[in-house]
Amino acid sequence: MRVLILGVNGFIGNALTRRILTTTDWQVFGLDVGSDRIEEFLGEKRFRFLEGDIAINREWIEYHVKKCDVVLPLVAIATPATYVKNPLAVFELDFEENLRIVKMAARYGKRVVFPSTSEVYGMCPDAAFDEDASPLVYGPIRKERWIYSASKQLLDRVIWAMGNANGLRFTLFRPFNWYGPHLDDVDAPKEGSSRVLTQFLHNILYGVPIKLVDGGRQRRCFTYIEDGIDGLMKILVNENGCADGQIFNLGNPAADLSIRELAERLVAAVGTYEKFAPLARAATLVEVSAAEYYGANYQDITTRVPSVRKAKECLGWTPTTDFATGLAKTLDFYLSGRLRPEV
Ligand code: UDP
Repeated sequence: MRVLILGVNGFIGNALTRRILTTTDWQVFGLDVGSDRIEEFLGEKRFRFLEGDIAINREWIEYHVKKCDVVLPLVAIATPATYVKNPLAVFELDFEENLRIVKMAARYGKRVVFPSTSEVYGMCPDAAFDEDASPLVYGPIRKERWIYSASKQLLDRVIWAMGNANGLRFTLFRPFNWYGPHLDDVDAPKEGSSRVLTQFLHNILYGVPIKLVDGGRQRRCFTYIEDGIDGLMKILVNENGCADGQIFNLGNPAADLSIRELAERLVAAVGTYEKFAPLARAATLVEVSAAEYYGANYQDITTRVPSVRKAKECLGWTPTTDFATGLAKTLDFYLSGRLRPEV
């Protein structure tokens, strides 16, 4: 199989590439603006890479859409701070650019595996979000945070309609707070632009107070990257067409933690590394309002639990990594080779 991954250097793209190259005989063609996470594959014969931008390198993309069997358009802005600071950039990249790719795949009869998001459920009141039954609930337009989920939701709907109208072969997957090695750079402090786990780890390592937005009562289901990749591989293999025309939540309902619990678990786990234990002991948690942290146009999602019944029934997938194990593996990646504490 020939797989085209746009955004191959991203958190999901690099982990998927590693899995494909180490466990299959497939070929991967990848595009990204950076290559720091995929350097180890650059000499590999079954991996071809172009450093480029999906908005610019259109001919390269078209040529490879034609050449490949399946397209994964993984390029997107997925950090809440950007949703409120630069909502149009989110719409242009996450919706407009990706729509072009989807249309191209439809034109050439290629399969699309598209990253929807757990954010599409928004403030859905259901105890567990169901791909085919749960309502998608957003705040008012002035709360600009919702431009991300609205963009993703609209593209989900367009892809779905193209499946019915044009015979586009597609699968949508919805990651629920995936974490693990290569998540974000813990040394690049972009407050509000990193995902919460790497942001908190940065704060601990640099002696900066951990900020709990609105007290950290909101909850997320933290899903270890390799579990997510297991699900994605099942989607790519697509045995008997089991993934065709379907939407799948890929999340770990058993790792449902409040953000405060996440901070406490992280501090405790960092404390088990002798070199970093003093930093863990010195770590402090402070409460900040969402408006202070993200600006007035943010609105949080208080709970987000996936139903994984469908992924189990159709794909035979269930997450298997508990949070303690996933966290330990993640911290080994970030801390074991680290030379010294920063402060
Ligand atoms: N959060 C926080 N402090 C931070 C960064 C994030 O309390 O320094 C909260 C944020 O408000 C959200 C949750 O952590 O409720 C998860 O944030 P993240 O950006 O990782 O992803 P989200 O699940 O919101 O897309």
